[in-house]
Amino acid sequence: MVSWSDGFGSSSSSDDEVRKAPATMECTEWCGLALNHPACCEHRSPCEKLVAFESTDSGRRFLGCAQKDGPKCPYVEWVDSEWPIPLKTALNKIWSMYEKELTDRLR
Ligand SMILES: [Zn+2]
Repeated sequence: MVSWSDGFGSSSSSDDEVRKAPATMECTEWCGLALNHPACCEHRSPCEKLVAFESTDSGRRFLGCAQKDGPKCPYVEWVDSEWPIPLKTALNKIWSMYEKELTDRLR
């Protein structure tokens, strides 16, 4: 399920309230452990280089929990700053098209 914070375009960012790392996608350019980066997740271990694949953050690089077994902590340190509004709008549109497609297919 794709979930997003409601009210795209609302002035307040809910990034701090969401205590969950975003969904990710595979990326060969940005992967593996960020050993030369001081960021540490809540497990006090080196972070993994990840690419978000969720809502308007899709494609943004971040450092997150690298825990392979056991639950991951919600640690997120963004590498790319927030996308500009036009790109967010485009992503928003694409995701809603995708969601619509999914619901249509279920019928
Ligand atoms: Zn962790």
